[in-house]
Amino acid sequence: MVIIDGSVGEGGGQILRTSLALSLCLGIPFKITNIRAHRKKPGLRRQHLVCVNAAAQIGKAKVKGAKQGHQELTFIPADIAPGNYHFDIGTAGSTTLVLQTILPALMIAKGPSTLILEGGTHNHFAPTFDFIQRVFIPVINSMGPNINAQLERSGYYPKGGGRLNITIQPADKLRTFHINQRGEISECTAKAVVAGLPRHIAERELGVIKQKMGWNKECLQVIEQPADMGPGNVVCIEIKSKHITEIFTGFGKKGVRAEDVAKIAANAAIRYLEAGVPVGRYLADQLLLPLALSGGGSYTTLKPTLHTKTNSDVIKLFLDINININQTSNDVWSISTST
Ligand code: ATP
Repeated sequence: MVIIDGSVGEGGGQILRTSLALSLCLGIPFKITNIRAHRKKPGLRRQHLVCVNAAAQIGKAKVKGAKQGHQELTFIPADIAPGNYHFDIGTAGSTTLVLQTILPALMIAKGPSTLILEGGTHNHFAPTFDFIQRVFIPVINSMGPNINAQLERSGYYPKGGGRLNITIQPADKLRTFHINQRGEISECTAKAVVAGLPRHIAERELGVIKQKMGWNKECLQVIEQPADMGPGNVVCIEIKSKHITEIFTGFGKKGVRAEDVAKIAANAAIRYLEAGVPVGRYLADQLLLPLALSGGGSYTTLKPTLHTKTNSDVIKLFLDINININQTSNDVWSISTST
């Protein structure tokens, strides 16, 4: 059994999700203590319990300690059971983080699966649906599986109510990848989405992006969603290159000016463009687990986050693998795995 101290490194829910994902994929039981010790409200929240319960169903696992607020959990998986699953978070908790927990197992399972996930689809501190669909999944599909994700309805904090439909055709064996070049940029777009909020919020956000990115107005789009989906606001900058697509998101929040929401996304996009790397900082932490499962591969990214380093430490507890994280120039880092 792998023993994990949930307070190390980044000390948040990511340690738990990465542990659940690897435990399912490898059939290795684990015990985690100090769950989310560095968070304001430590222990398992509803969002994490949905991840644990979803993983338990898919891995036919025995679980001890899966209760709200608990800081200790034991997870003993059996076989991966592909099939048709429906997980409803019941709040605006992130659907994409549930997906992050169970997808690795389902993409190497013995048969296809479908998932319906309900909750938040565009949450602060989580990949948005757009990021999952157009940034993360294309890389995973290049490894062999065939995953399709559709957004039936957007869900924003605090209301939730979003819904994703995912189909997963697994791969017999995961191919590795080397993503060290971005290649030529083929398309740059930005969209600002408002649900139940005035259109001028989206227009002001796009005004900032137009000015900071120097793009013309044909690249920019306002999307107004039905009022009953809201309140919700996100702005996404999408950069498509020959070898990869990246998305940079600003999340609207009560009390934060639209201009400042857009600046967060624009500054992240500018940093990415200036560094010339293919993989942005969020994708970098999300690719480490699939890459490690596939054996040896590599990618080039920005200075790794604490999430990436923490993921690397957790992966090494489950897998006998080398993970090398090296700076190659000012804001350029190389991440590689080898067995
Ligand atoms: P908690 O302890 O509150 O559950 P956490 O520390 O485990 O949170 P977060 O910091 O919320 O987790 O990050 C979770 C995941 O969301 C990471 O994989 C990160 O890459 C991803 N993520 C966060 N923000 C974005 C973003 N803007 N775009 C894409 N992915 C993101």
